[in-house]
Amino acid sequence: MNPALLPAVRSFLSSPRQLLIDGEWVDAKDGRTFATVNPSTEEELVQVAHASSVDVDRAVVAARAAFESGSPWSKMTPRDRSHLLWRIGDLIDAHADEFAQLEALDNGKRVEAAREGDIAIAAELFRYFAGWATKMEGTSIPMSVPGREFHAYTRREPVGVVAGIVPWNFPLLMACFKIVPAITAGNTVILKPAEQTPLTALRLGELLLEAGVPAGVVNVLPGFGDTGAALVEHHGVDKVAFTGSTEVGKKIAAAAAGNLKKVSLELGGKAPNIIFNDADIEAAIAGAVLGGFFNEGQCCVNGSRLYVQRGVFDQVVAGVAAAAAAIKVGDGFDPTSQMGPLVSQEQHEKVLGYIGGAVRDGAVLTAGSADRVGDRGFFVQPTLITGVDEQMAVQTDEIFGPVVTAIPFDTEDEVVAAANNTVYGLAAGVWSNNIGTAHRVGARLRAGTVWLNTWHADDVTLPRGGFKQSGWGRELGSFGLDDYTELKTVIAELR
Ligand code: ADP
Repeated sequence: MNPALLPAVRSFLSSPRQLLIDGEWVDAKDGRTFATVNPSTEEELVQVAHASSVDVDRAVVAARAAFESGSPWSKMTPRDRSHLLWRIGDLIDAHADEFAQLEALDNGKRVEAAREGDIAIAAELFRYFAGWATKMEGTSIPMSVPGREFHAYTRREPVGVVAGIVPWNFPLLMACFKIVPAITAGNTVILKPAEQTPLTALRLGELLLEAGVPAGVVNVLPGFGDTGAALVEHHGVDKVAFTGSTEVGKKIAAAAAGNLKKVSLELGGKAPNIIFNDADIEAAIAGAVLGGFFNEGQCCVNGSRLYVQRGVFDQVVAGVAAAAAAIKVGDGFDPTSQMGPLVSQEQHEKVLGYIGGAVRDGAVLTAGSADRVGDRGFFVQPTLITGVDEQMAVQTDEIFGPVVTAIPFDTEDEVVAAANNTVYGLAAGVWSNNIGTAHRVGARLRAGTVWLNTWHADDVTLPRGGFKQSGWGRELGSFGLDDYTELKTVIAELR
C-alpha cells in the first residue's frame, strides 16, 4: 500500500464498498462485486458492489418515495436546500485531500491535479447552485380575452426521479454535474458512476448523508453498462442525464423512448484548434499543449485536431513536439510526474492502437510513440502526429488519450470547412491577434464552446454542451437548471 495514503483513505479502501439506496449502505441483491484498479500500478484497490436491475428497482422506489409530496425532501424550503448545498460544498473542501487521493488512485490523474481541479470545482459547484435554489422564478404573463380577466403565471417544478450516468475522466466532478443541478431543483437522483472509477462518488454519498440530505434523495449504484441500461429503460425514471460516448448516447436516446423520459446528453468531441499566422505563437503553442494533453488527453473538449496556418506550421509543430517530449509521465502520487496513466487497460490498448494505426497509414510521430511507457501501469507518452489526412482514424475518431494531430492550412474558408467536417461539435478554438479574424472564425465554428486565444478557461457559471452529435442540452450556468425542471403554466380566471 502507498505510504503517502491518508488514514481516511486507507480506511475507505479496507472493506468492500456497497450501494447507497434509501440512505443505507447495502450489498447488491445478487451479491455481485467488481474490482476497481489503480491504473498506475494495475493493482486492485477494493471490491465494489455491482448493482443489477433488482437494485435499480429498489433505488427507483426509494427515489420516488423521497420525491413524493409530503416527504421530508418535498417539504424542505428552497432556502433549506440552499443551505444544505452550501454545507456539502464546505464538507468537500474539508475532505479535499482525501478526495484527491481517492481520485488519483482510482483514475490515475495526479493528486495535485485532482485537488486543484476536480475536487475544488466540485465544491464550488455546490456553492454556485446553492445560490440558484432560491431563485427559480416563474413569470406572470398577460392574456387578452375580451370581457374576461385572468392571472396566468409559470412555475418551475422538478422533473422527478433523475438517473445520472457518468464517465471516468472526471469521476467526482461528473457525478456533481448531475447531482447538484438535480437536487437544487428539488429532484431526487440515482447516480451510476463509471465502472472504472466508482470510489469518489461513493465517498460523496457518505458526505451527503452526513450533511443531512434525506434518505432516498441521492442513491449511488456502481455497476457497468448493464446497470446504466436498466436505469435508462426503467419507467419509474423521469429523466436521464448522461455524459459519455456518442455511441452509448445514441443507445440511451433510443432506450429512453419507452416512457419518453427526458434525456440530456453530453457526448464525444474532436475539437479543432486553429492557429493563424498572426497569433501570439508562444501562447498558442502553450495553449495547444494544454488543450491537447490536459487530463492525460481524456477530456471531451480537448483540442485534438490542430490546424496551423502554413507560415507558422513548422514553428508550432516544433514547439508542441518539444513540450510533449518534455512531459514527465508517471504515477499520480509522484510529485515530479506531470502526467499520469490512462484510466484502464482497455483505454491504453485503444490509444496505442490508434497511434500504431496512424504510423501504418503513413503518418509521422513528431513526438511520442506507439509503444507503452514502462512495463506496468497504463502510461502513454504525449504524441503529436503530422502527415495526417482528413480520412485517417486518428483524425476522425475521438481517441480520448494524449494524441494530437497537426495539419497545415492556407485560407480561412479552407480551415473553417475542415474544422467543421466532423460529426462532433463540443468545443473549438482560434488563435489570432486580429480581433476580427478571431471573432468571425469563432462564430463560424459549429461547437458549443469556442475559445479565442485561450483553451480550457472555464467556470461553473458557463453553460456547456454540444452541437451535432456531441449532445442534447446544456449543463451549468444559468441555463443548467432548465433540463432539470418542468415548466408549468397556471391560468386562473378572476371571477
Ligand atoms: P467511455 O467510452 O468514456 O467509457 P461510455 O459511454 O462507454 O464512456 O460510458 C459512460 C457511462 O455509461 C459509464 O458509466 C458506463 O457504465 C455507462 N454505460 C455504458 N453502456 C451503457 C448503456 N447501454 N446504457 C446506459 N449506460 C451505459
